[in-house]
Amino acid sequence: MKVLRPRSADEALRLFSENPLALPFSGGTDLMVAWNMGSLNGKPVLDLSAIREWIGIRKMPGGLAVGALTTHAELRDHPEIRRNFPLLAAACAAVGSVQIQNRGTLGGNIANASPAGDTFPALAVYEARVRTISRHGRRNIPFLHMFAGVKKTALNQTELIEAVELPFLHAKPARQVFRKVGTRAAQAISKTVAAGLVWLEKGGAIKEFRFALGSMAPTVRRLAAAEAFLKGRTPSSSAIETAAGLLTKDVHPIDDFRSTAEYRLEVSRNILRSFLGT
Ligand SMILES: Cc1cc2nc3c(=O)[nH]c(=O)nc-3n(C[C@H](O)[C@H](O)[C@H](O)COP(=O)(O)OP(=O)(O)OC[C@H]3O[C@@H](n4cnc5c(N)ncnc54)[C@H](O)[C@@H]3O)c2cc1C
Repeated sequence: MKVLRPRSADEALRLFSENPLALPFSGGTDLMVAWNMGSLNGKPVLDLSAIREWIGIRKMPGGLAVGALTTHAELRDHPEIRRNFPLLAAACAAVGSVQIQNRGTLGGNIANASPAGDTFPALAVYEARVRTISRHGRRNIPFLHMFAGVKKTALNQTELIEAVELPFLHAKPARQVFRKVGTRAAQAISKTVAAGLVWLEKGGAIKEFRFALGSMAPTVRRLAAAEAFLKGRTPSSSAIETAAGLLTKDVHPIDDFRSTAEYRLEVSRNILRSFLGT
């Protein structure tokens, strides 16, 4: 197998343009499975792991920039991520197992575009932006626009993910939740995975509500209908019940070998109910 090993972003872009069929390779936790199954079709591999400028978490104006090669373990343990973006830290702690967290990267998780990507609901409620780079320049893509379908991203053939930008929240949320529901505590692909944030007015009415679900549609979804319905309302049991009923406006789970659509919907509704209930 031909392996290209750039030492810098510039070199990576040059090698990628000379080898347009090359497969970007970060931690390899998804790609090695594909390799074992013989589905890489002899394509060259562009091993990004030596690009130091894409590793780690840096301050940027108004937020943090997470290099694409930052591992789930670094995100899980990083004090600034735990303080400002705890749902992302919790999501990274729920990916696979410690071994997978030590190698798997945020950029690889996003580019793999699984409907069950565990970091996605947190990135959706934090309104992250994905910074891409190619020989033609950079793009800043709102997180929800990154996905075009199951295993399909909005990346064009010349683009690589360089970083993920996380804007600081405007205020501390009153409550927040991350929940992954799988068959086991580790090495389980999510049946449903949720992240939510809520801000309340002084009188208790909902000022802003953000809630996202993974594994419930071909791509991660924000619950736009429930979010709009709850804005300005007191989270009474009838309001929560109506919001739970609105889930199917935005998510359409399927039956598969991991779960049924009915189970996924009921568990997701229960997560929303217990998050908003007192
Ligand atoms: C046993 C096991 C358990 C797992 N459990 C979970 C889980 O619980 N939750 C979960 O979400 N995932 C899970 N995964 C999937 C995987 O670990 C994650 O998606 C991980 O974050 C992938 O990152 P990576 O760096 O290893 O990606 P890689 O395998 O290196 O690459 C994945 C894909 O992204 C592309 N790519 C990589 N980096 C870039 C880049 N910078 N720009 C553009 N394209 C790029 C590659 O070409 C490839 O298509 C599991 C995998 C295994 C093997």
